Amino acid sequence: MKPKFAIAIHGGAGTILKSHLTPEQDALYRERLTRALETGYALLECGSTSLDAVEAVVQLLEDDSLFNAGKGAVFNSDGKVELDASIMDGKTLKAGAVAALHHVKNPICLARAVMENSEHVFLIGEGAEAFAKAHQIELVDESYFFTEARWQSLQKAKSKESLTEKEKHGTVGAVALDQFGNLAAATSTGGMTNKKFGRVGDSPIIGAGTYADNETCAVSATGHGEYFIRAVVAHDIAALMRYKNLSVQAAAEEVVMRKLTKLGGTGGVIAIDRNGNIAMPFNTEGMYRGYKVQGGKTFVAIYKEE
Ligand code: ASP
Repeated sequence: MKPKFAIAIHGGAGTILKSHLTPEQDALYRERLTRALETGYALLECGSTSLDAVEAVVQLLEDDSLFNAGKGAVFNSDGKVELDASIMDGKTLKAGAVAALHHVKNPICLARAVMENSEHVFLIGEGAEAFAKAHQIELVDESYFFTEARWQSLQKAKSKESLTEKEKHGTVGAVALDQFGNLAAATSTGGMTNKKFGRVGDSPIIGAGTYADNETCAVSATGHGEYFIRAVVAHDIAALMRYKNLSVQAAAEEVVMRKLTKLGGTGGVIAIDRNGNIAMPFNTEGMYRGYKVQGGKTFVAIYKEE
């Protein structure tokens, strides 16, 4: 039987090896991923829209200092956070995106507000924050984003010490199908540690890091953003489904495991189609990820072989 609703989430991809995490860290990641997943699932079960579910889940992950988004964002080369996020509604193809934010507690909520309360799709920097203020989106002092772990990662990066994948980047994302047959996708990130010159990655770029279309799929990506932009990853997966009739699994694998890999890009995606089929390919050692389909078990995993 076709499930009526389903959700998938990610918390970043990279060289995440079992040997890199203590058993306690491993358990903590799984606990936080499970909590986010089950929050989203419960919303969908109660009849929430996929848009509300992905926004709520990403907001929860933004508030969790474990992940590189919102509270746990990495620092740029000036020692500041610079946050990016985007959201897309598969029913209307409406989208909202924000980038280079320094004071927005939950960038995903601002992306949603841009989508719903402006005639624009993408706002950046000071303008985006002025829009946030005008629309009662919570702004916080930059000190809110300070975490010792991220600060140490920046110092390491500046001294040219090699960083573990967890210290370099990361992103959070969610895709969902709701009981009304609608798909949605949301992505939020702090980008990459020590980034310079107002660098923006794929996460807030519709078609690269985020995409949703009821006729094909909803996608949220994580990985080395520059490659995801060049490979137009999220939209390419949808295009393979639309024009070549590929399944969500085949399309996502084609783009991540072949096209992106050939280009030299590392990372992965979560994708869902309107029948609740879920694909989560990644070409790295690990990806924090999980999914739950109506009536099914909660699946959460970190490493490749799970
Ligand atoms: N895609 C993000 C960026 O390039 C980082 C990540 O997902 O790890 O900003």
